[in-house]
Amino acid sequence: MSNFFQSDFFVDFAYICASILFIFGLRMLGNPERAQRGNLISSLGMLLAIAVTLLDQSIISYQFLSIALIAGAIVGASAATTVKMTTMPELVALFNGFGGIASLLVGSAEFLNFNALNFIALSAVSLTILIGGVTFSGSLLAFGKLSEILDGKPFLFFGQRIVLITFLLLGLALSAEIIIDTGILGISKLAILASLILVALILGILLTAPIGGADMPVIIALLNSYSGLAAASAGFVINNNVLIVAGSLVGASGVILTQIMCKAMNRSLTNVLFGGFGAPSKSSAGGSTEIQGEVKPINVADSYLILEAANSVLFVPGYGMAVSQAQHSVRELGELLEGNGCDVKYGIHPVAGRMPGHMNVLLAEANVSYDLLVEPDDVNPIMETVDVCVVIGANDVVNPDARENEGSPIYGMPVIEVDRAKTVFVLKRSMASGFAGIDNPLFLKENTRMLFGDAKESISTLVSEFKS
Ligand code: NDP
Repeated sequence: MSNFFQSDFFVDFAYICASILFIFGLRMLGNPERAQRGNLISSLGMLLAIAVTLLDQSIISYQFLSIALIAGAIVGASAATTVKMTTMPELVALFNGFGGIASLLVGSAEFLNFNALNFIALSAVSLTILIGGVTFSGSLLAFGKLSEILDGKPFLFFGQRIVLITFLLLGLALSAEIIIDTGILGISKLAILASLILVALILGILLTAPIGGADMPVIIALLNSYSGLAAASAGFVINNNVLIVAGSLVGASGVILTQIMCKAMNRSLTNVLFGGFGAPSKSSAGGSTEIQGEVKPINVADSYLILEAANSVLFVPGYGMAVSQAQHSVRELGELLEGNGCDVKYGIHPVAGRMPGHMNVLLAEANVSYDLLVEPDDVNPIMETVDVCVVIGANDVVNPDARENEGSPIYGMPVIEVDRAKTVFVLKRSMASGFAGIDNPLFLKENTRMLFGDAKESISTLVSEFKS
């Protein structure tokens, strides 16, 4: 019987079942109501894949796999329970990096095994090391930028593209040497491997360093896709079908997400990769134009009176809502407004927050109905009819400079045009800028009122006003 569980037939069949579970799970993630179940189904697929790998003893001993499984489960469980929602993007960046280094190690180990590898296997080895290395160093740099350990601005220097292309060619040449083994370089196998790893790590830094500010969502999605490609390639190296399928799924969904993020920023991928967001450019002439107007603060009592009389309210959440964890109070306020006969909607920008879908996740957690969520394209055309826009800790995604100031680094990016509503309340703690580090003329517009303070506190006080 145990032979049956270790037979190629059983292992392949189980891997196909695991792959089907991944695909169904992934499909369900596209709908917030079914996303949790989708996650569970994908996890079941992964459990099946791990269990079958355990049975397939030819890969590694039970002892090693059990140790790895326990260590992974401890790290995963503690990360899932202790990491705050606001630091999820950094965690995702780290996980991408771990995926990259794991693939790099698999490729290197297989290369150093001195087994006679054929052309395809050697091509997969070099690709795994190259993409794995790029993913690892690029993700660590992205982690540093997102967690603000490092400066989030793009790092650009003269001749950047030439240096990048040189390293790319060097990486390809070393990969070719690994595959063909001409001996032309006169160095050992180990030295070639070490050089390829070094070149891949430098390439990851060169690719990520020029990206910063509002362009960060694109690089996160792209690194996610690289980690999938590295895993798929590692699957070819160790001849593991489920790794090929899972890696390809991650790679493909990462590419789709990258496209969505580029569209949300109205930028091409080449522009994001080489444009250098926020770096001084000829068009920006070293800065934005001077902002006109004055700040008009408002208190909760006056805000209540205006909201109480409003027929339509659009909530526009951003990263500040995640920081203050205001989503439950926001939902409560939304329900009170609806009870008061007001039409309530939630305007969601695709790059609001710090990870794709950040606002959707928070609002779903607070049980805000998915039907109430609207995208910029739905709400911008009717913005003039909205009585009050309540901006909750959003900044870059509602910056009118994206439409009005050609010199602005975010010029051309589609934003939620809240400044065109009849009245705008901006809930934030200070006049500080958002992630992109640029000024926001919205705060000084005639129809804008600044409700200073922690978003959750302000919304909770508004809720109390309504209830009393
Ligand atoms: P922003 O980062 O532009 O602004 C967030 C605002 O929240 C700040 O201005 C801050 O102002 C305010 N804030 C912080 N804490 C609180 C609090 N407790 N209560 C009230 N307000 C608070 O956020 P947006 O969501 O508008 O834009 C997202 C930005 O992040 C974009 O530039 C995007 O490109 C970038 N990004 C997005 C990623 C993604 O995948 N979605 C990934 C990486 C970056 P104050 O300090 O004055 O309170």
